[in-house]
Amino acid sequence: MDSATTHERLAQFRRMCREHGLVATVQRQAVFETLLEREDHPTVDQVYERLAERVPGISRTTAYRILDTFARLGLVTRICHPGSAARFDPKIGRHHHLFCVSCERIIDIEDDRLDRIQWPDVSACGFEIQGFDVHFHGLCADCRSRQGKKGGGAVRPSKQPKARKSVPRNRSSNLPRRTKP
Ligand SMILES: [Zn+2]
Ligand SMILES: [Zn+2]
Repeated sequence: MDSATTHERLAQFRRMCREHGLVATVQRQAVFETLLEREDHPTVDQVYERLAERVPGISRTTAYRILDTFARLGLVTRICHPGSAARFDPKIGRHHHLFCVSCERIIDIEDDRLDRIQWPDVSACGFEIQGFDVHFHGLCADCRSRQGKKGGGAVRPSKQPKARKSVPRNRSSNLPRRTKP
């Protein structure tokens, strides 16, 4: 994430803290900054590893509690995938995910058609849908090329080894919600 965007997101972070009556402490800001630096949807442990270098003495429990608060207030997105640890995403604008079943990498994608999916009528079971994002399961470029080397070589290595680099990241990252019709 470039520094202008980081600057904006930090300003947005402080504004949202104010709105929710949350004090933007050094620890909370460090957690948010650590998350902003990563585009790979880290786990609590991965955030904590980096954070511990930044804020000596901070505990993993504190890091978890801060991330949990952020997720509840909507400052970050918590991504839960069956069988995996919860992952945290600083990107809160509408987007969707590609989930690699081999290395558990999560890649952001944006697609207007996915944004327009009609919600099912679940009133019969008393459920209230509050939001959605779409997860596609599959194999990332790295895992595919590894498999290609092992197996029959049917998969050509991609010209863009890191697929997430090809996703424009600045389109809606500052917006709480996409405003396009
Ligand atoms: Zn993979
Ligand atoms: Zn994401």
